[in-house]
Parts: sequence; C-alpha cells; structure tokens
Amino acid sequence: MAKKQAALHCMMCGAAETPETPVVEVFNGLTLCTDCIDYIDTARDRALASRSAAKPKVAKKKEDIPTPHEIKQYLDQYVIGQDDAKKYLSVAVYNHYKRIAQEEARDKSAPKATLKKAIQSAAEDEVDIEKSNIIMVGPTGTGKTLLAKSIARLLDVPFAIVDATVLTEAGYVGEDIESLLTRLLQNCDYDVERAEKGIVFIDEIDKIARKSDNPSITRDVSGEGVQQGLLKLLEGSTVLVPPNGGRKHPEQKMIAVDTKNILFICGGAFDGIERKIANRMNTHVVGYGKDEHAKKQQRDNLMRYVLPQDLKSFGLIPEIIGRLPVLTALNPLDRDALLRILTEPKNALVRQYKKLFALDGVDLEFTPDALEAIVDKAIEYKLGARGLRSIVETVMVDAMFDVPSMKVKSFKVDADFVRDRLDQANFDKMKLAD
Ligand code: ADP
Repeated sequence: MAKKQAALHCMMCGAAETPETPVVEVFNGLTLCTDCIDYIDTARDRALASRSAAKPKVAKKKEDIPTPHEIKQYLDQYVIGQDDAKKYLSVAVYNHYKRIAQEEARDKSAPKATLKKAIQSAAEDEVDIEKSNIIMVGPTGTGKTLLAKSIARLLDVPFAIVDATVLTEAGYVGEDIESLLTRLLQNCDYDVERAEKGIVFIDEIDKIARKSDNPSITRDVSGEGVQQGLLKLLEGSTVLVPPNGGRKHPEQKMIAVDTKNILFICGGAFDGIERKIANRMNTHVVGYGKDEHAKKQQRDNLMRYVLPQDLKSFGLIPEIIGRLPVLTALNPLDRDALLRILTEPKNALVRQYKKLFALDGVDLEFTPDALEAIVDKAIEYKLGARGLRSIVETVMVDAMFDVPSMKVKSFKVDADFVRDRLDQANFDKMKLAD
C-alpha cells in the first residue's frame, strides 16, 4: 500500500496530485494520475484495434464467403467498367475460397472410425476441386492491380503485390522466386497460417516471357527458368521462403510455406499480343499508314478474344498457362471511363478533394467542364487513369495552399481554372517524362 502521508505522485509522469488531477493507487503501490490512466486506456484501445485489424479473420465457413454477385457489387464500388474481368474474378475467387472451406470442413471431420467408413468417405470426396489461379491481360493502368487489391480487402486476407521482373533463376543475381512470398508473410506479421490463404498479385508476368527469338541470349536468365520456378509456387507445394526477401543465405532461417491455398493473380500488358491473336484468327492488324484511331480500335477489339494459345505464342510456357486457368482481358479506358473514374468510385479523386476541403469547412465544386478538361489532359499526354491523380494534384496545389487562410465557404474549379493552373505549372513537362 502506498503511504498517504504526503501528496501522492504519479509514477508515470511524476506530477503531484492536484484537485483537478487526483492520483490513485491502481495496483500494489503503483500510483498514477487520472491523466496518465486516460492515456493508457486510449493507448490500449488503439493497440487492441490495430491488432484486430492486423489479424482479420480468413473466411472459414462457406457462409462467410461472399457470393460472386456480392463480390462483383463490391468491385463495382471501386473499379469502373471491366465487367468481364470482374465477373471472371468474382467466380474464381468464390470457387477458390469455397474450395478452402470445403477442405477445412473435411479436415475437421472426426477421424475415420472404421476402415469401411474411411473408404466410403474417400469415395465421396473423390472430386478434388483444383485451384484456379487467374491471369489478367490488358494495357497498363486499366485496373488490374486495383481489382486484385479490392478483392483482398473484401475478403480480409493477406495480400501482396510483387513484380515478376525482379525475379531470376536461382544462381543468378536478383531475387529468388520464393521471395515472392516474403512480402505476403511480412504483410501478415509472419503468420504462416494466414499467409497460406492469402492472395499474391504478380505484376508484369509478360516480362518473363521466353525470348527465344533473341539468339544473343545463351541462357534465358529472366525468362523460361523463372517460369519453371514459378510453376512450383503456382501448382501448390511447400517452399522455403527467405524471411527478409532477396537471395537465400545459408545463415538465414527459412520459413516453410505451403502454397496450395494461396491464390495467385497475374497481370501483364502483353504488348503486341494482338498480332498473335490476329494471326490465329487469320485477320490482319491494320498496317502502317492507316489511321491511328482505326488501328487502336482494332487492337482493343482483338484483345478480348485472347486465348491460352496466344499466351503461348507470346512466350509463356504451356505449364504456366495450365496453372493459370482463368484468363481474362481488360479493356483500355476510354474518355467516358476516365470521367467516371474521377467521380464515381468510393474513393474517387474528386470525392477525396471534396472531403479535404470540407474538413476546413469549404464546399469544393468541380464543374463538369473542369472534369472534361482534366480528362482531356490525361488523354492528350497519354497518362491514362494513373495520370489523373498527378493532374488533379497539380491543379489543386495552389488552392490547397491558399484556401485555408482565405476564410471562404466555397471554392469552384472550372475549366479555365484547370487550364490556367496546368499552364502555370508547366505541365508539359509530364509529356516529356512519359
Ligand atoms: P494496372 O492495370 O497497371 O495494374 P492499376 O490498377 O494499378 O493499373 O491502376 C492505376 C490507377 O489508376 C489505380 O490506382 C486507379 O486509381 C486508377 N484506375 C485504373 N483503372 C481503373 C478503373 N477501371 N476504375 C477505377 N480506377 C482505375
């Protein structure tokens, strides 16, 4: 017990007791002031909240898994257009987690009491649902990563984006294939069980295509060998992952990860694949000299007919293609889609800026012609959806600097304002950067 002859002191901040801030004995002689007690309470709540956010549940029972319709509806809130890709993804993801749930239910069922029962149940279970990894083909900046990210958020499963270009075959400089899983492990605090049900998005898969038509490469370090290595991960096996990525070192303690239930989603632009599609379909891609618009339209149209054999002609090995059974194409984003991306998604750029200004009590308005002017710039400089942010950022920087000290209640951004800001900021620089 603390002796109460003198004013009590808080053992955390050292302050003496005052009428406004009494000091109390909380435990076995430990005295704290009420301010510090409040501080500890808040810190504890925060820590608990972040722990439960960091360790979200993985859908276990079939009832927990959203239906394909629900998955698509969720994606619709964040991704504009790309209906085909959304549908394919929704079905593949639903089946994938249904398959995991089924396996878990099977594993949990009591040990088989008799041999007869075991044989009977083996016969019932003889249909093994295979994993359906996904490959998305489409121009850069059309939403491939966004789709994969949104799915992981919906399902509350660990998610990692990795770039296929950093991989090399074991023995060559670069990262080992297993290091693809390092990021996934890191993103769930090395909780192997959770990582084993996560989603890995492998970007730029087209960059590890076989370059057989390049005779100067005697050993295709970043091509076929990497694909062979990747195969092991895609088909599901236990691999040893370096906890800190990079190359394997003998002194590093490896973590064993079973990839059987990890969903791999691959994405790539596959530049030039439309020629392979055209060849297969026996049509011709409009040649040089023809008008650019017609050429582009034809290219865009062809992409949606992509088939596994086109990936093979492009340089993916058949085994990899076989392990990526769900193939879907994304459309290039047209003017209308870019306009919608500015305003419609749940976290659309315009909404974000409106919120930022609202926090200062300012009502921000973008006129329709301002939005058109922003999209015009993105198209003019071929920046696509990715460029929208930098354009809006450039347009808004002065306003964000000035408005908080202007004591205004509203602020309007129109087309003249957009063009003026971009001119002043010398936005043409971006054209060079592209
Ligand atoms: P990639 O196809 O190269 O993976 P991303 O998904 O990374 O492209 O897209 C880049 C950015 O562009 C996204 O963060 C998002 O802001 C925007 N974006 C691209 N496509 C869409 C889309 N279909 N709907 C909404 N936003 C999109």
